Amino acid sequence: MPYYEYVCPDCETRFEIRRSMKEIDDPAICPQCQGTRATRQVSKVMAFSHGDGESVSALGGASACGGCSGGTCSSCGVSRN
Ligand SMILES: [Zn+2]
Repeated sequence: MPYYEYVCPDCETRFEIRRSMKEIDDPAICPQCQGTRATRQVSKVMAFSHGDGESVSALGGASACGGCSGGTCSSCGVSRN
């Protein structure tokens, strides 16, 4: 099950939640202030960790599956199980 990164707009806390794609749009509870307005962040760290512009564009291009913003979710095959 993949991790998703969220940022709380109230206290600016970043936190990760391990959840399925079905729950990806469910409210994420901020561990700091218990707020429910946290927004999911696109995991750019994973994409840029390759250090290769071509692979980044490849990930962000054709492979976006609708469940993520470009190749970082389980449906895109990164951590399929
Ligand atoms: Zn918060």
